[in-house]
Amino acid sequence: MSVESINGPVITVTTTENDFAMAEMVMVGGLPGEVISLKPGVATIQVYENTAGLKIGTAVKKLNAPMSLTLRPGLVGGIFDGVFRNLRRNVETEYITKITACVGDFLSEGDTFAIVEESISYLATIPPDTSGKVIQAAEDGVYSADSQIILLETETGKIPLSLSQTWPIRVPRPVRRRLSSTMPLITGQRVIDSLFPIAKGGTCAIPGGFGTGKTMTQHQIAKHCDADIIIYIGCGERGNEMTEVLEDFAKLRDTKGQPLLSRTILIANTSDMPVAAREASIYTGITLAECYRDMGYHVAIMADSTSRWAEALRELSSRLGEIPAEEGYPAYLATRLSAFYSRAGYVQNLSGTEGSVTIIAAVSPQGGDFSEPVTLHTKRFTGCFWALDKNLAYARHFPAINPLQSYSNFTDLLDPWYIKNISPLFPKYREKIINTLAEESVLLETIKITGEEALSPDDHITLSTAKKIRKTFTSQNAYDPADTYTPLAEQFKMMETLIKENLGCCQEERLF
Ligand code: ADP
Ligand code: MG
Repeated sequence: MSVESINGPVITVTTTENDFAMAEMVMVGGLPGEVISLKPGVATIQVYENTAGLKIGTAVKKLNAPMSLTLRPGLVGGIFDGVFRNLRRNVETEYITKITACVGDFLSEGDTFAIVEESISYLATIPPDTSGKVIQAAEDGVYSADSQIILLETETGKIPLSLSQTWPIRVPRPVRRRLSSTMPLITGQRVIDSLFPIAKGGTCAIPGGFGTGKTMTQHQIAKHCDADIIIYIGCGERGNEMTEVLEDFAKLRDTKGQPLLSRTILIANTSDMPVAAREASIYTGITLAECYRDMGYHVAIMADSTSRWAEALRELSSRLGEIPAEEGYPAYLATRLSAFYSRAGYVQNLSGTEGSVTIIAAVSPQGGDFSEPVTLHTKRFTGCFWALDKNLAYARHFPAINPLQSYSNFTDLLDPWYIKNISPLFPKYREKIINTLAEESVLLETIKITGEEALSPDDHITLSTAKKIRKTFTSQNAYDPADTYTPLAEQFKMMETLIKENLGCCQEERLF
């Protein structure tokens, strides 16, 4: 089997035996690739490396497995490309391991059999659809990721298990049950936590034109949110932004005094890297997130930017000669987006513990036009929409989240949590703040037509309160050490002060 045609990252191979499988990994010369279409006698393959220099006739080798990633200890703090190749040279290869399984134990899917204590404890678990009796177990000690730790006797035979586990990236990992999420992902960003909160296990889109603060908002969340693990996918954006994450996060400390990098995994497929691997990077990221969720962690994914991912999809589709739909994107764009976002969630995993995957995705529509296909479809599948506004960004109001275009569908689910943990008044204050900002925008329109004289004294109060809300509450300077993070209780106090002082009213009944 050898290369017959080359079109950018897409190549075709003639096969006489028809022995390729769909989504199978192959090696094209020395370059990794994946089978994306099969016809009698012809397989189409996307190649994850630059194909410049590749020749017709180059041998293609089957790897007999789908595109997968291998989970193992030592990943946290690392940086990988879209197809999960380590971008750092020196990595540890042996891990101090505690074996928790004993000979004679019966273990089912999801059960832990070994632990490696790292900044985030790594649990080696029984793979899905596997169960059996432990017939051999190693002693506590130092092991490589691939050495056998236990031997499991199952109905279909003996299975050796090591610290590592391989999983195909395009297949969602199974869970026991999906739960509805009732806990917010706390970010310390006032406009987010107080006005448009996201649930742990929820999905969120951050659409915005160039320079409106998508990357900055994601960096802020990655730094400050209360997830256990952050998967940061740099997808088609500038490489120096990933360098910043690496350098910044290595210096910054979290609340426990650990460097932020020690809870972060970076997947880098920047604009200068091959387009097919960019398409894969989203799946690599979400699969990795699911693996840690299955250990019982709360994982947050930052994807910057899903528009660049959709563009990769468009490029590959056009090279395949598929019939384009809206704006040249393939007809399956919506299906792919939906499949990606549906992998988020708050779940009871196979072992019975709980964990979550939250997706926070930047969308970068050309010219900030939110009616283009990627933004529109993303909106259908995400529960939160933090619309970044170029006018706010020009006015240096950051985060430039427009309170009138943004929404969160999680508020009803989360309000019991806010009421119990912060204050029974939280939902009412949120409503009051949002309404005041909405009233302000109506009043400002009125002023344009009728002038200020037409305003009532109450209107003037509303205007001045709204201004204070914007100056002190919804804007937040990421560079100011005191302002960069606001605890939730403090956010509540700020809202209370703004409402009570400025609306000249202390009695709740009169307020609401
Ligand atoms: P985008 O990713 O949407 O192109 P960036 O996230 O790179 O935009 O933001 C552009 C600039 O806006 C940043 O370099 C920064 O100066 C400013 N900015 C964005 N958000 C904030 C914030 N929360 N606080 C202060 N400055 C911000
Ligand atoms: Mg950016």
